This record gives sequence, structure tokens and C-alpha cells, in this order.
Amino acid sequence: MRFASLGSGSRGNALLVEVGNTCILIDAGFGPREMVRRLERLGLVGDDVDAVLVTHEHSDHIGGVFACARRFDWEILLTHGTLAACRDDGAETRITIIDSHAPFSVGDISVQPFPVPHDVREPVQFVLADGVRRLGVLTDAGHVTLHMVAMLDGCEALVLECNHDTQMLAQGNYPLALKRRIGGLWGHLDNAVAASLLSRIGHSTLRHVIAAHLSEENNCPMLAQEALSVVLGCKRDWVGIATQTDGFAWRDL
Ligand SMILES: [Zn+2]
Ligand SMILES: [Zn+2]
Repeated sequence: MRFASLGSGSRGNALLVEVGNTCILIDAGFGPREMVRRLERLGLVGDDVDAVLVTHEHSDHIGGVFACARRFDWEILLTHGTLAACRDDGAETRITIIDSHAPFSVGDISVQPFPVPHDVREPVQFVLADGVRRLGVLTDAGHVTLHMVAMLDGCEALVLECNHDTQMLAQGNYPLALKRRIGGLWGHLDNAVAASLLSRIGHSTLRHVIAAHLSEENNCPMLAQEALSVVLGCKRDWVGIATQTDGFAWRDL
């Protein structure tokens, strides 16, 4: 298995995962033209991608899903609630409705979805496996549930939301209502909560940990790396960062 990010943050998300002959995206927050540009950096074209798994209907995750699926003939997999919340009805696309608790496969990739608390209709995140190794992905969650901990336990790689630093959010320029939404129970994980999640899962098996969905206003990479590296007992820069502009390069698992 190898994985890479095309970009991560409130202006667009897309995570690539490749196993054998199968290549999928988790989310597509970029339109076709931008998607092509970002795929090119990783040596791929639109047709190389088989399917897109959608976590939820916020535009930074779904913004490019339907247009890209029509253009490149991607299968779209999403929950009933997420599809119901979309403006696009998915006409002329191949849509598969997934159950937020039921495992399924896309080609060579096994997928275990799990529900998360976020302020949308039916959000999910995913653990992807190639039969041997597991990659856990968690962004866009307002708090940590026991079920999330159970799902992410024992993964070999983890892409984990570190959205904000609570102090930077409190002292920043966002309107109060937005601060409350982001920091609330159905908003986003802050660095400290992400670190505490990490401390609750069996993290001795982890070969890759990447902080993702960082706010450009209310966080900085060093703070996220610091919070996670303390738990892992590793050097700060061992913790990867998925950036808005570049995502991160291919990592082999
Ligand atoms: Zn998001
Ligand atoms: Zn969201």
C-alpha cells in the first residue's frame, strides 16, 4: 500500500491510496482542472483513479466529487445521508451507497467506515487495508468517541486531524459563532484532543503519523507536531504534515 495527499485543509481535501491495481481517493475537494494538476505532481492522471470515497458533504471534501467523477468515470461511494445532503443528484455517475458501519472492498482495498461526530448529515471516516497493513484516516470530528478509538487501534499509519490550537482559536479573529462551531462537539479536533486520541490507541505499530486538516489561521505545523510527538516519544519532525498547497508525497506502508 502507498498513500499521498493532494491537499488538506478547509480549502480542499483529497487523499490518495493505492494497493495493487486499485487507486482510490478519500474526498475530492478540488475541481477537475485543479485535480489534474495535483495528481500530476504524484505521477498520476484522472483515469488512474478508480473511485472516490466521500466522508461528508462539506465543500472542502465534496466540491469536486461529481464533476471529477463525470469527467474521469470514477465510482462514488458515500452514505445515504451524505448523498441526500448534496445539491448534485449524481445523475450520469456511478454511485454506491455505503453503510457507515459495514466493511466493503474497492478492488484490492478493504475499507472499514466508521461514523464520527461532525455537523453534517451522516459523516464517516475510514480505515483502509491491503490485507496486512491498515491506514486510519480521521479528520472533521468534533470529539473522540470510544468507537473511533476502537476503529483506529493498532493501525500502521494514521492521518489525523489537528485542526487548531485552542489558544490560537480563542485569540484569533474569527467571529464568535464560528469559533464555537469549530471548537464545539460537532466541529474539529484540536491538537491536544488529537494527541489524547493518539495516547488512547495502540500506537506502537505506527510507521507513519501525519497531522492533517490544519487551520491556516488557528494552528501552525510546529504546534501540531509537538503535541503528537510528545505522545509518540519521537522527534518532532518525524510527524508529517499534510499541507493545503502540497498535501504530502507518496508514503509506502
Ligand atoms: Zn473539512
Ligand atoms: Zn467538515
